[in-house]
Amino acid sequence: MIPFIDLQTQRRRIEGDVQGAIAAVLEHGQFILGPEVEELERNLSAFCRTKHTLGCANGTDAIVLALMALGIGEGDAVFAPSFTFVATVEAVKLVRATPVFVDVCKDTFNLCPDSLEAAITHIKGQSSLRPKAIIPVDLFGQPADYRKIEAIARQHGLAVIADAAQSFGARLDDKPVGAWGDIATTSFFPAKPLGCYGDGGAIFTNNDELLSLIRSYRNHGQGKDRYDNIRVGLNSRLDTLQAAVLLQKMKIFPDEIAARDTVAQNYTRNLPERVVPQATLAGATSVWAQYTVVVDARDRLRAALGEAGIPTAVYYPKPNHLQAPYVDAPRAPGGLPVTEYLQERVFSLPMHPYLDDDTQARILSVLAKAMN
Ligand SMILES: *Cc1c(COP(=O)(O)O)cnc(C)c1O
Repeated sequence: MIPFIDLQTQRRRIEGDVQGAIAAVLEHGQFILGPEVEELERNLSAFCRTKHTLGCANGTDAIVLALMALGIGEGDAVFAPSFTFVATVEAVKLVRATPVFVDVCKDTFNLCPDSLEAAITHIKGQSSLRPKAIIPVDLFGQPADYRKIEAIARQHGLAVIADAAQSFGARLDDKPVGAWGDIATTSFFPAKPLGCYGDGGAIFTNNDELLSLIRSYRNHGQGKDRYDNIRVGLNSRLDTLQAAVLLQKMKIFPDEIAARDTVAQNYTRNLPERVVPQATLAGATSVWAQYTVVVDARDRLRAALGEAGIPTAVYYPKPNHLQAPYVDAPRAPGGLPVTEYLQERVFSLPMHPYLDDDTQARILSVLAKAMN
């Protein structure tokens, strides 16, 4: 069986550097908010051309912290796709706000600007909820249509929190993910394009005021010092050990992004007919957290690939608006027909920077045979 995501080849490539970095942390012993955390935050800011970066415990907390810093809570409406990992909307519920589900585009799988506008108008016109923010998700590694979404947000006075958990390293109009939105968040979960060896996350913003709020909220609502607590916050810091690992992984990250793109372009050029890949928005690059296609006979295709030792996955088999805690959340007028269409037809092929040419060729040939 070939691996769906190969983390071992990368581990061997940087093993010596990672072990040295971990040993250095064990030696200085500053396990919480040690010097590697600040160094990583500076590197990440430079990498995505954003003024400020703060590490935090994971990508879910990153969204929660962003919502807290924006003062979002009970009675507030937050617009988000249903076609995403549950954490996007879970964060909204955790701060007692109401997620409003918006449909996605059939080609890019990302937030649909028309459905978004309809949802905002609907909530403004008929409900007691106050529209406050939009959380676009960069599904499978590709930036959402921030040009249009930011324009809609400005027009309606809404904040944009970019859920870039899957897309860190991607760009839109040459502007890196991290710099789009009022706040952007990401995850360093091991399987994400830039993953650590455990849980980790980060928050990006150009806004000084939001920075100081997030810094306080991630550390028990800290005021002027550790024992001055001026707001109710979280314990959500990025471990120094994880920051040390990420500093080493960042050195090879640009190279890995290029390698992922080479695999994706090869897949796209050689897919059989009627296997439709996620489209990339004009002006956007993807870091291909997943390489995902749309087909009609998904189960049959996946079975054929599985028999040939080729693993596949379905992200996400059940959209959030059909999950028990979220079934009552408002939806865009007209519902979520594209989300429901995609949810029954998408699946993802093996994708990682170390997928060699022969394996790609084998995957494509099994796929072509199964389509006949
Ligand atoms: C992974 C992911 C998250 C959550 O990140 P964690 O670090 O696992 O908490 C949030 N949103 C999306 C879209 C994700 O893929």
